[in-house]
Amino acid sequence: MLQMEREKNELLLVEDLMIPSEKVAHVQSGNPLEHALLVLIKTGYSSVPVLNPQFQFEGVISKTKILEEALGLEQFEMNRLSDIAVQTVMDQDIPCLKKDHTFIDALHKLIDHPFVCVTGEDGEFDGIVTRREILKNVSKSYHESKNK
Ligand code: AMP
Repeated sequence: MLQMEREKNELLLVEDLMIPSEKVAHVQSGNPLEHALLVLIKTGYSSVPVLNPQFQFEGVISKTKILEEALGLEQFEMNRLSDIAVQTVMDQDIPCLKKDHTFIDALHKLIDHPFVCVTGEDGEFDGIVTRREILKNVSKSYHESKNK
């Protein structure tokens, strides 16, 4: 990648790259796992953010975590999912970004996660940055630098 292209990407901020909250599928921390599984199946995502009633980011819930909960001794017991709240099994050890973080900050965090949440000063949920968005920018820069 040419120096100029690299600098261009480094100047991009998270707010330029993120999917805004109103376009992000999410579940509430108090929802039952049954509802979260329905959202995940309908959207086709393997995980989505979990928010509290104040719209603050709490964690991430995944299909894998839900299916682990449904797994009984010998078979899946899907009826268990209506009695367990999302907040009891969601993953809370998730890195977040702020809107003024850079492209490179986002790229580093996305090495280990398919998406990273963007939060405001009081933990309010602003949106997500996905691997797809980062890879699209890397690919664009690569082709632009090749065609110079
Ligand atoms: P991608 O890099 O586009 O494959 O997205 C990576 C992950 O980000 C997906 O598997 C979902 O878990 C999450 N994701 C992407 N777009 C959305 C969205 N609009 N709403 C909720 N989660 C999303």
